[in-house]
Amino acid sequence: MKDTTHHAHAVASRELTPASDPWDPIKSLQRYGRHTLTSVEMTVSNLCNMRCEHCAVGDTLVFGEPDKMPLPLMLKRLEEVERLETISITGGEPSFTERTVKEYIVPLLQYARSRGVRSQINSNLTLDYGRYELLAPYLDVMHISYNYTSAEDFHRIGFGKSNHPVARETAARLYERMIDNTRKLVDGGLFVSAESMINFRTHLDIVEIHRQIVELGCSRHEVHPMYPSAFAADLPMLSRSEMATAVGRLLDARDESVWMLFGTLPFFMCSPDAEERALVRRLAGAPNVTVRNDPDGRNRLNVNLFTGDVFVTDFANVPAFGNIKEDRLDGVFKRWLDGPLAGSVNCHCPAASCCGPNLLVKDMYFREQDFRLRKAMTD
Ligand code: SF4
Repeated sequence: MKDTTHHAHAVASRELTPASDPWDPIKSLQRYGRHTLTSVEMTVSNLCNMRCEHCAVGDTLVFGEPDKMPLPLMLKRLEEVERLETISITGGEPSFTERTVKEYIVPLLQYARSRGVRSQINSNLTLDYGRYELLAPYLDVMHISYNYTSAEDFHRIGFGKSNHPVARETAARLYERMIDNTRKLVDGGLFVSAESMINFRTHLDIVEIHRQIVELGCSRHEVHPMYPSAFAADLPMLSRSEMATAVGRLLDARDESVWMLFGTLPFFMCSPDAEERALVRRLAGAPNVTVRNDPDGRNRLNVNLFTGDVFVTDFANVPAFGNIKEDRLDGVFKRWLDGPLAGSVNCHCPAASCCGPNLLVKDMYFREQDFRLRKAMTD
């Protein structure tokens, strides 16, 4: 008989709110007393119609791609994950081909829904509405990037790494379609989460970007600093204090009725800088604001559907450490957790609800620091 006991862990309420973010690894750490695999991200496309200057997986984008692992194998590997709570589908643009939407994305979302597992897709929403309409009924979070105040920004940023010139009008048409698709999905009741990065280009415009995201009707504004991964490697970086100023400006001006989720911030309660600690406290006390601990390698793995390789994230330069052709994901995750790299950022301060920095954050801002020797200050 099929063992369905783990399905009892399905989350009772479907509603996503600031009080319940199943992607945050602190939740499973609190519940199980150790980091536990609750989330699987799947890369289903290396194709994309855009070439964003900040793309974290830019180096992997291609113009044609091989076949994917058989869907039944992926479903089997998901079924084996005992504590699965969330899946994420990413690319490239996951919906670049309609075939992938029909043959992979929809069945994966249907599987998640049937098991009470929440789902997210990362999309640029610039393609035909029809393909988003196909998957929307089974999806919990449509995650889009939104770093623009105008079609001109979209053109400059969204095709910054294109190897051929893209006409202004072409970009403007895609921009309009992205806006249109967002509105349609919002009107249909879908939870759209728009993510902005704080970087050299957006930090001064971030309040206007927020205003537009609210105006589009998005349920959540997600904000992350940009880190030097792939295409972003040669973009200028902001200092921690410029980053803190931009976050402060956003908190001053934001619409408090919209959930704002911050992630991969370089600010922790163990910081010797009192202003940084004050910012962490301000974030913790702000209504409708959450700060997500980083899922990568804490409660999540990434599976590349083309090779079957399993990674700790789709963008850090950490080699694969398993393959779904041979390995169960819970086993791969244990191997990762027991390894030295995971150990190097494996700190936990329960009083601060913090479980340490993302690997890229550590690499960029805290290269010399050993977080295992740090501790949240109570001030
Ligand atoms: S868990 Fe780590 S990063 Fe967070 S406050 Fe404690 S020592 Fe700092």
